[in-house]
Order: sequence, then C-alpha cells, then structure tokens
Amino acid sequence: MDFALTDDQLLIRDTARQFMEAEVRPHLRDWERAERFPAAQVRKLGELGFCGMLVPAEWGGAGTDTVSYVVMLEEVARVDAAIAVTLSVTNSVACVPLVRHGTEQQKYAYLPRLAHGEILGAFCLTEPQAGSDAAAIQTRAVRHGSTYRLNGTKSWVSTGGQAGLYLVFAKTDPDAGARGVTAFLVEPNFPGFRISRYEDKMGLRISPSAEIVFEDCAVPAENLLGEEGQGLKIALEALDGGRVGIAAQAVGIAQGALELSARYAKQRRAFGRTIGEFQAIQWMLADMQTEIEAARGLTYYAAWLRDAGVARAAMAASQAKLYASEMVNRVAYKAVQIHGSTGYSRESEVERIYRDARVISIYEGTSEIQRLVIARALLGATAGAAQGGR
Ligand SMILES: Cc1cc2nc3c(=O)[nH]c(=O)nc-3n(C[C@H](O)[C@H](O)[C@H](O)COP(=O)(O)OP(=O)(O)OC[C@H]3O[C@@H](n4cnc5c(N)ncnc54)[C@H](O)[C@@H]3O)c2cc1C
Repeated sequence: MDFALTDDQLLIRDTARQFMEAEVRPHLRDWERAERFPAAQVRKLGELGFCGMLVPAEWGGAGTDTVSYVVMLEEVARVDAAIAVTLSVTNSVACVPLVRHGTEQQKYAYLPRLAHGEILGAFCLTEPQAGSDAAAIQTRAVRHGSTYRLNGTKSWVSTGGQAGLYLVFAKTDPDAGARGVTAFLVEPNFPGFRISRYEDKMGLRISPSAEIVFEDCAVPAENLLGEEGQGLKIALEALDGGRVGIAAQAVGIAQGALELSARYAKQRRAFGRTIGEFQAIQWMLADMQTEIEAARGLTYYAAWLRDAGVARAAMAASQAKLYASEMVNRVAYKAVQIHGSTGYSRESEVERIYRDARVISIYEGTSEIQRLVIARALLGATAGAAQGGR
C-alpha cells in the first residue's frame, strides 16, 4: 500500500495551486461582486490541460489517471469552488461520456477543443419538474429524416451560456420510461436553442446556472451520442465519475476554509491572547482537519478504484460524495464561527465559502440519493428500486 502521490501528481497539484493563488485569488472578490465568469482564466486552465485530464492524449487530452484529476480539482476548489465546478463538468460529464460513447467523427469534432479549453462542456439533465427522478424528464426528441427536433426546458445548467457543447438528454420513446431517454450533442448555435434565464443563486455566483429552452431545436442525427434509449445509462455513468470530482471539490473547499481559519486563529486576539490559544478554537480546528483527511481518503480511494476498474467504484464514489459534501458544510460552519463577525461579512473569504459549500450535498445527486445508491449496493438491486434516483 502506498499513500504517496507520484511525481506527476505532485507537479499537477503544485501547478494548479500556483495558478489559483496568482491568477484567481487576488480577483475573486471583484468577480463575485460583478458575478463575472472568469472566461480568460478558465481558458488558461484549459491550456494547462485541466479541461481534459481524463481524455486520452490521442484526442488532445492530458490522459491522466483519476487520482491526478481529483488532486487538480481539490487544488482549484481550495481557492474557488465555482471554477472547480466548471472544470468538473467539462472533464467528468462532458469529455468522459464523449470518450466512452462518441463516434470517431464526434470525438474529432469536439474532444480536442474541449480538452484544450477552447470550448467548455455542459450537462443538461435536470428539468423544472425532474431533478433526482431523472427518468421523469419531459424534453422530447423526434426524428425527422436526418435531424432530431428537440422540445423542452432544461434547468440549472452549469456553465450555461458559456459552454460550446451541451450534452442534452431527451425522450425519444416516452412510453419506455428510463429506457426511452437518448443523449444528444448540442451546439448553442443550433436553431431553436435559447438561454431563457439565469438562476439567482446563494453561492457559486461566478458560475452561471442557466435555464435553456429548446424550441424545435434542430440536432443532426449524427450528433446522437451512443444509441437511442441509452441516454439515462450514459447520464448515470457520467454522474458516477462526476461524484468523485464533486467529493474532491468538497475536500478542496474545506481545506481552503481550514487554512484561512488557522491563520485567523493565530492573528485574532481576545482576552489578552490569540483565539488559537483557546481550547474551544483548537478543538474546532482539530475536528476540521480530521474530517478533511477522512474525506480526502475516501475521495482518493474512490478515484483509485475507478482507475482499477473495480465494480464497487460507483458505491465508493457515492460514499466519498456523501461524506465529503456533508463534511464541507460542517467545516464551513466552523470556519465562520472561528472568524466571528468577520466571518459574517461579505469582505471575508469564509463567508463566500459558507455559501458555496451549501450546494455540494445537493447537485450531482443529493445526499439522500447517495444513501440510496449505497444502500442498494449493500442490500441488493431491489432495495429502493421503486424510488427512482440519480
Ligand atoms: C448550482 C447548481 C448547479 C447544477 N448544475 C447542474 C447541471 O449542470 N446539470 C444538470 O442537469 N443539473 C444540475 N443541477 C441540478 C441538480 O443536479 C439537482 O438540483 C439535483 O439532482 C436535485 O434535484 P432537485 O433540485 O430537483 O431536487 P428534488 O429531486 O426535487 O429533491 C428534493 C428533495 O427530495 C429528496 N428526494 C428526492 N427523491 C428522493 C428519494 N427517492 N428518496 C429520498 N429523498 C429524495 C432530495 O434528496 C431533496 O432533499 C444543478 C443544481 C444546482 C443547485
């Protein structure tokens, strides 16, 4: 057993850390206020290879293992969770399904550009009436000769409006339930594609979350990903991988909160001493550190299992996502507590972290859905089978 990162993984970690400290942290507060998506910085992260970490080199990607990928995401999230989610979506739920299910022509058309960060990917499963229950989506795709016409509304699309490729899930056979869903590769310039509005969110305010309306959106038949009826399988498989990335995002956010809190505890004085000298503060910091290490262990292990191609990798990803996403909320709470009133001010970084952390136990499968996945793996396929669930 070897817990050490390889030289390559250390290089990736250090490169991500240096970039985020130099090119992102100094500007974050201004971008937050302006709700500005940092397109130029994301593009540079793409040039460093961070948009296509899991894409083979022959398609322009970095071709790394999943552990390297989670190390990168952790470092990005340590400074900013919103950029981490942008990278996570492009890597895990846009590039990976394309690598696994794309035709040569589709890979040629999109993968190198995605991997270099020339275009970003987006994932369109959720609809206003269907989140956890993904089989209940209502967007329809009907074939007319060499084109599919898509009609429906997708909500909460991360990087919506900034992305150049949208992986859209629509029903081609509404009577077939989960087996009636098909995946499409949609470009924003296809006729009938329209961003209808942006969510006004609690956190991740520099990452746009769009509602997208498809009105007779014309998608060429060659842009169907996989086969008709395979869509939900492709989506759930992508989310299995995505969850490891979201767990890494949680670990990174929490690590950032811990470092800020430890620094503050050494500076802030009360009753004639630094607050870090009080046992109450020390215990909070010790618990934060311990929980972060536990989540990091689960996350790296899930990534390692995924690379090893082990069947229980999906359950491990859910366990990592469940624990890490609830951990980061506890850590962010303590970080604000340690900062006192300063932590409640929009001027402080932990205030943003507290808001950003809240969504981690909601997206890419809520905590309740992760527990469902874990219980099913534990008790057998029939447990909770009636309860939908991604
Ligand atoms: C910032 C942000 C970004 C997002 N980005 C994307 C994106 O890029 N692409 C995309 O497709 N979606 C995205 N989403 C949507 C996200 O994946 C969904 O919000 C999530 O799957 C939950 O769905 P819901 O919000 O409809 O909640 P619901 O499914 O309505 O759930 C409401 C509550 O009921 C619980 N619940 C539901 N079913 C069960 C069950 N069977 N057993 C127990 N409890 C249950 C849930 O856990 C939750 O607590 C994003 C969401 C947010 C907030």
